[in-house]
Amino acid sequence: MTSAERGPLSWIPPVHALLDEVPAAVRRHRAGERLEKASLRFAIERVRRAIRSAAGEWPTEEAVREAVASAWEEEARDLLAPALRPVVNATGVVVHTNLGRAPLAEAALEDARTAGGGYVPLEYDLETGERGSRYDHAAPLLRIATGAEAAVVVNNNAAALLLAVDTLAGDRGVVVSRGELVEIGGGFRIHEILSRGRARLIEVGATNRTHVEDYAATLEAREVGAFLKVHRSNFAIEGFVAEVDLVGLCRLGAERGVPVIFDQGTGILAGEVWAAGEPTVAEALEAGAALVCASGDKLFGGPQAGMIFGSADAIAAVRVNPLLRALRVDKQTLAALEATLRLHLIEPDSIPVRRMMSAAPEALEARARSLWESLAPAAREACEVAAHDGRAGGGTLPEVALAGWAIRVAPVDLSASGLAAALRSGEPPIVARVTEDAVWLDVRTLLPGEELMVADRLNDLLDPSRGGDR
Ligand SMILES: *Cc1c(COP(=O)(O)O)cnc(C)c1O
Repeated sequence: MTSAERGPLSWIPPVHALLDEVPAAVRRHRAGERLEKASLRFAIERVRRAIRSAAGEWPTEEAVREAVASAWEEEARDLLAPALRPVVNATGVVVHTNLGRAPLAEAALEDARTAGGGYVPLEYDLETGERGSRYDHAAPLLRIATGAEAAVVVNNNAAALLLAVDTLAGDRGVVVSRGELVEIGGGFRIHEILSRGRARLIEVGATNRTHVEDYAATLEAREVGAFLKVHRSNFAIEGFVAEVDLVGLCRLGAERGVPVIFDQGTGILAGEVWAAGEPTVAEALEAGAALVCASGDKLFGGPQAGMIFGSADAIAAVRVNPLLRALRVDKQTLAALEATLRLHLIEPDSIPVRRMMSAAPEALEARARSLWESLAPAAREACEVAAHDGRAGGGTLPEVALAGWAIRVAPVDLSASGLAAALRSGEPPIVARVTEDAVWLDVRTLLPGEELMVADRLNDLLDPSRGGDR
């Protein structure tokens, strides 16, 4: 410690002295004794760090005391605020993994609230008064939506995959192409997840090319419980490539008596215009897959969940696998999933993800234009309505650009990244896309009413006459 630092650090009053007289600004949060004390400790830590890094000026004891008081108030406020507060997604990325993937439909939220706030017949048969199964609830609608003989819902798609492989392959081999051992985001890789299970992973082919003979050859030497095909949902490989499609793999499986598991991922149930070429769950079942795994919170547009579809026999085996108990889905998720499914069948456009995916470019342009028109004149000068491609996101449809529109802001006296940081630091935080020279606010992913918030914030930040804080 240098002598210059010793002064300011010693000016921080002792904790007990500060706690004797909690400032009104902190009291206002009604944090209670424990959180008041905890937030004070955090605040002191913060001020100490600032002093050590020489951030800010510390000419007087008074300045240090004021810094502690305001940090205390902020820490108390932050501890009491929900960490998962609303954020405006202006990135144009529909299934934004870092922003919580799918926003739920109103009906799904309502049903989740009902299930969460009270008692529901989750595992109870109201007719007989006896025990029922949670896995019976969504099953009929899952079957209707995909043509599957049977289905089960678990915690997420990774869980679904683990369970499907464990059920069909047991401790035998599961054969997968090297071209499909993908990383699914967050640093998790399919083969790392599978290597924690009982089944032995048998990798075949090369990264760019795998042939049907590669799969067949494994049957000569090893005991194989299942073939696994993983949909490469988050990247594409081009050039000198070959892969065995699901139909071909299912044909080999049928000939040799080996069941095929298909990790479909996206949760696209059946034909969607914007999903041209993407395998749907219905198609995968038709091709002959014994089990198909899909995510509930990607393009299906529901809560975080994993759906497993398949033949009656295969699903019956899944349902008696003890691992199912460790991966089971809770009542609120199940309620939201079932509600989302119902909407898929009756009123698909009320599912936000579907609505955002299929939004017409003309409608998006009109939204962007009316947002621009609602700006103050000074803000308008820095902004223009510009074409901007949206993305499905969530590691799905990597090659699909969704034609749409955005507000492009090229601030004059601020860098693009500076403006983006200012947008994030307000309440609610607005997350935009930043390129070198501009910030893009794509209207595709704005929820109803959020245009107003965006316009207000842009006015605050870009119109000097409003005295916006930068
Ligand atoms: C997203 C994805 C997963 C993981 O799904 P979660 O719901 O995130 O657990 C697994 N496999 C594929 C092919 C995926 O696209």
